[in-house]
Amino acid sequence: MKIAVFSTCQYDRDFLERFNTGHDLTFFDAPLTMQTVALTQGFTAVCIFVNDHADAPVLSQLSANGVGLIVLRCAGFNNVDLPQAAALGIKVLRVPAYSPEAVAEHAMAMILTLNRKTHKAYNRVREGNFSLEKLMGFNLHGCKVALIGTGNIGKAFYRILKGFGCVITAYDPFPDPVLQSEGLTYSSLESALSDAEIVSLHCPLTDDTHHMINAESLKLFCKGAMLINTSRGALIATADVIEALKTGQLGYLGMDVYEQEGELFFHNLSEDVIQDDLIARLISFPNVLITSHQGFFTREAMEQIATITFQNVDAFAAGGILKNQLIPQ
Ligand code: NAD
Repeated sequence: MKIAVFSTCQYDRDFLERFNTGHDLTFFDAPLTMQTVALTQGFTAVCIFVNDHADAPVLSQLSANGVGLIVLRCAGFNNVDLPQAAALGIKVLRVPAYSPEAVAEHAMAMILTLNRKTHKAYNRVREGNFSLEKLMGFNLHGCKVALIGTGNIGKAFYRILKGFGCVITAYDPFPDPVLQSEGLTYSSLESALSDAEIVSLHCPLTDDTHHMINAESLKLFCKGAMLINTSRGALIATADVIEALKTGQLGYLGMDVYEQEGELFFHNLSEDVIQDDLIARLISFPNVLITSHQGFFTREAMEQIATITFQNVDAFAAGGILKNQLIPQ
């Protein structure tokens, strides 16, 4: 099958070529957008990632170009207009779970870095500064954590938090009985956020969850709390979070995702002037840690993404059961 693969870096190409089950792959650095969709002429399928745009106009053009399949190299699918794809007869398949531990472990890495400031200690010691001033952290043991979303990643993260001795309250519209049997308590969103010392987001971006962390919900957190977002940028209203950081209501922010990340993440912009004033302000805080959507980025996850992507393509090519197909609600 001829597949146009968008938003690729060398590491994507390496893994996709290694696990290719015999398809004709053409790699593009650029994301799929209205400007690049013309490149899909003559392809049967497109393979896309988190910051590609498969909105209604792009989908219409894909259909006109003869594309009948979209394979996502990720779990989240907020960037695909599923009803429009279904209306055009384009099948959309994703990688529903690939090493959820990768993202959960990254969330914990962000917590540990923000809390114990190992990034600052590393630089200080290299310059001969052995002072402990301003490096004080807090114990995670006994710390109150709000876990928002307990799917694949939330579940893995719950088990890590439990190992650290945190006191965890979860919110998920669909509580997991297995986690309940392991001791996890669920409550309403408001109650989970109330007085939380750490809030970690692991739910999908939907109309319901868009800007769920905003000026109002931030007031519920314990003063000086830590917010961790490894899920999707638009779960948080960035301007409100900046205000909360300025007043001290929010004491720490760890974000692996950002609402406007499409223009920034996965690119080396070190010689450019950043035009996005919100991210520039966030970078200026001493208590903010930003990583550019790298939660998934482990060897194991890349292997699974490539393997499942080709299983999806092969099932489509064989006319078989599409177990990872996304069906609009
Ligand atoms: P999942 O589908 O297994 O779990 C999502 C959970 O969120 C489900 O249990 C669902 O019931 C729950 N949920 C739905 N609406 C909710 C709401 N309003 N409030 C609270 N919970 C709600 O997904 P997952 O694999 O655990 O991934 C979670 C998110 O992590 C994805 O949607 C994706 O955006 C993000 N993600 C990020 C990276 C990264 O590299 N940073 C990698 C993979 C996934």
